[in-house]
Amino acid sequence: MKKVALVTGGAGFIGSHLCERLLQEGFKVICMDNLITGEADNIQHLLKNKDFKFIKHDVTKYIRIRGRVDYILHFASPASPQDYLKHPIHTLKIGALGTYNTLGLAKAKKAKYLLASTSEIYGDPLIHPQKENYYGNVNCIGPRGVYDEAKRFAEAMAMAYHRVHKIDTKIVRIFNTYGPRMRLNDGRVIPNFISQALNHKPLTVYGKGAQTRSFCYITDLIEGIFRLMNSNINEPINLGNPCEFTILELAKLIIKLTHTKSKIIFKPLPEDDPKQRQPDITKAKKILKWQPKVELKEGVKKTIEWFRQY
Ligand code: UDP
Repeated sequence: MKKVALVTGGAGFIGSHLCERLLQEGFKVICMDNLITGEADNIQHLLKNKDFKFIKHDVTKYIRIRGRVDYILHFASPASPQDYLKHPIHTLKIGALGTYNTLGLAKAKKAKYLLASTSEIYGDPLIHPQKENYYGNVNCIGPRGVYDEAKRFAEAMAMAYHRVHKIDTKIVRIFNTYGPRMRLNDGRVIPNFISQALNHKPLTVYGKGAQTRSFCYITDLIEGIFRLMNSNINEPINLGNPCEFTILELAKLIIKLTHTKSKIIFKPLPEDDPKQRQPDITKAKKILKWQPKVELKEGVKKTIEWFRQY
């Protein structure tokens, strides 16, 4: 009998890659998405697969599913700063009510549970690189607080269900991830720079571009998530690529790889924009025997090829 996995946010960037991987691994997949930031196009090719089912539903509302569910992977949430600033209340509700509903379903179905959390729970970190035991530096009332606090609440809720109801919960703290199926207009730095470069428009670097991020290619992340899903670990785990770049370095790389005539222009730094971010992945290396393989240059090249088609 095939195992059944429910992926919330399954039509999103990461969710759709996860659905694909689960199908390849022999799962039946129920993909749930309300398509606020997810895209029907991301799962169009999966609809003909008899093991794949799409349900359009908002996870902040009660979730009713008939039959067995063996795994619940809760990936629903706006994840780009532009999106969560546009949907602040919904973002809070997904982290709170969506996590509550999906954990309730996991309890009812005796399913294993995996929560997509984020490096944002570390806020603008004062410890570098970030280890899982760092509590973070979050401005709860700032504009980004809606995402950061929603995910911090979601983690607390998952741990409470684990302790009280003995649910086998897992928490992945996902650092900046990129690749095909990101929305060209999702506002995040890699799609922004690539679309600007391909349209010969100036690349908009916020601040001086001295802030850093560490970018993980989607296939590497999915491999890590799959390993975590099959592990015994219940504590949060960082997944990301530890190679750190400044945003200015990224802009220059994208200009070089796209052979664009675009120049760089500087715009104000958004409020509470983290100054640095780099995952410490010692735990993932040790427990999951995982580490990213795709270098930034290689991954960005593949992403540019994908964006050229649009
Ligand atoms: N950024 C930028 N130009 C853009 C979009 C983003 O300089 O057009 C910067 C942003 O200020 C941040 C970094 O790139 O420092 C990464 O932003 P993104 O929105 O991709 O994700 P974040 O890591 O902030 O959640």
